[in-house]
Amino acid sequence: MALGIRKNDTVTIISGRDKGKRGRVLIVDKIKGTIVVENCNFVKRHTRAIPQKNIKGGILEKEAPMPISKVKLFCPECQNPTSVKAKFEEGKKFRSCKKCGTILTAKGA
Ligand SMILES: [Zn+2]
Repeated sequence: MALGIRKNDTVTIISGRDKGKRGRVLIVDKIKGTIVVENCNFVKRHTRAIPQKNIKGGILEKEAPMPISKVKLFCPECQNPTSVKAKFEEGKKFRSCKKCGTILTAKGA
């Protein structure tokens, strides 16, 4: 999809444990349909020590990927989670807020 959520966008989590949380998009995996959002969906990973591979055991906290459907783009203008709508201006395609129509695409995009 050409439109939608991209890296460095601000999104709101709309379902699950982190519902209502807001964060910056770190990774968008279009093939898997997953997204990694800064400071959201933390998972504790218990790693077992594997001395042969020089891996120390312990608890590692890391942002985990979640389905893109669990987040919505956050519109800074109307302060709402929103969907993206295509908008054409001067022959260029922009992403705009479905609710208030504000163009969300940053310069150069
Ligand atoms: Zn808006």
